[in-house]
Amino acid sequence: MVIVLKPYASKQQIDSLISEIEKYEVTVQKVIGSNLTILGLIGDTASIDIDKIAINEIVHKAMRIQEPFKRANIMFHPEKSVIKVGDTEIGGGKIVTIAGPCSVESEEQIVDIARQVKLAGATFLRGGAFKPRSSPYSFQGLGFEGLNLLKTARQETGLMIVSEILSHDMVDRFVEDVDIIQVGARNMQNFVLLKELGKIDKPILLKRGLSATIEEWLMSAEYIMAGGNPNVILCERGIRTFEKYTRNTLDLSAVPSIKRLSHLPIIVDPSHATGLWWMVESMARGSIAVGADGLMVEVHDNPEKALSDGQQSITPKAFSDLMNTLRIIAGAIGRYI
Ligand code: PEP
Ligand code: MN
Repeated sequence: MVIVLKPYASKQQIDSLISEIEKYEVTVQKVIGSNLTILGLIGDTASIDIDKIAINEIVHKAMRIQEPFKRANIMFHPEKSVIKVGDTEIGGGKIVTIAGPCSVESEEQIVDIARQVKLAGATFLRGGAFKPRSSPYSFQGLGFEGLNLLKTARQETGLMIVSEILSHDMVDRFVEDVDIIQVGARNMQNFVLLKELGKIDKPILLKRGLSATIEEWLMSAEYIMAGGNPNVILCERGIRTFEKYTRNTLDLSAVPSIKRLSHLPIIVDPSHATGLWWMVESMARGSIAVGADGLMVEVHDNPEKALSDGQQSITPKAFSDLMNTLRIIAGAIGRYI
């Protein structure tokens, strides 16, 4: 962190500011120029509240040089994190695919889709049991019964399961039931939930918030990691922009941005990013080409009848065709599916 002081700052005021800063156990280097004095802070400045420094009457400007996230930062962890889930790895050479319906609707539905996506080569089965819907009158999911049905599908197919958690009081049950706990876009900044997820070691799929910057997203990952859980997988799912043609705007540049800033794996969800079934395939292809470690795709055997997100769901046949194309793209960039 660098602090630029106002020209009229007295020696006494400067010394008093320095002793305040030194309480954070950082070293302060003073650079005295002909007009300005600059303080350079050396050490772990993560716990320093920059706004508190900035309001000091002798401070002209306070700036962070390093990103505020530490554990998620590639600077302090140059080797890529590879997250182990059962006997699968996320963030290694293999590109993982998480496929399945938006919502678990019935045993027959989830088991049938699970069988088909498994045949197509999916790594994980997804299915929402608790649905964060924009309207309280929309289908809210089957709740814990939905988790039971996902477990049945896992038993039938061997596919590991991914499902979204909505609140901190569900953590025990999710740890018990699912293989990856999904934190949805709307909960990316539910800090009570993130702190609880920091206390476990189950892999967490952390979706990007609807209007979250890359830094805010990584700070949410930092919450989970700061609690002691290093197993975080990021998921770009589109952000809200002025464009209304698509449900959200898929920010594919988030993939190389995250790769430059963090060691955590990142996957892309082209279904929620576009909201349009016919756009899912091209955006999925693009995601793999730009270096994503995996995909989350909504697949439904009868999209027209789906209880949620049918308009953005592709059929099992379309998913199978997509996987064949993705295998070629993965091979071209030295990876495999
Ligand atoms: C979902 O995956 O079903 C979902 C609700 O996604 P998001 O949180 O990205 O909107
Ligand atoms: Mn959905």
